[in-house]
Amino acid sequence: MTELCELCEELPSEYTCRICGRLVCRLDYVLNEGICVVCKSALCEVCGRELSVAVCKMCGRLVCELCSVEDGPARICKLCISGR
Ligand SMILES: [Zn+2]
Ligand SMILES: [Zn+2]
Ligand SMILES: [Zn+2]
Ligand SMILES: [Zn+2]
Repeated sequence: MTELCELCEELPSEYTCRICGRLVCRLDYVLNEGICVVCKSALCEVCGRELSVAVCKMCGRLVCELCSVEDGPARICKLCISGR
C-alpha cells in the first residue's frame, strides 16, 4: 500500500525529502533540490543546502549555522562578513 504524502495527506507520496525525511507527493517536492517544500522555504539562502537557523542581522537572509557566525545574540552571514 502506498503511503500518503505527509504534507497534504491527499496524494500518494513519491519522494523522500533528503533533509527532514518526510514522504511527500510530487506537488510538495522540489525535484531538482531533492527536498520538500517545507524545507525549501526554510533553507539557508547562502548555501542553499542546509536548513536555516537564523536571519542575518545585516542583510536579512536566512542563514544556516555553517554560513554565519555569532555576533552577540544575533548572527551575521558569511557574505556580509566578507563584504565589510
Ligand atoms: Zn502532498
Ligand atoms: Zn523536508
Ligand atoms: Zn548555509
Ligand atoms: Zn548577511
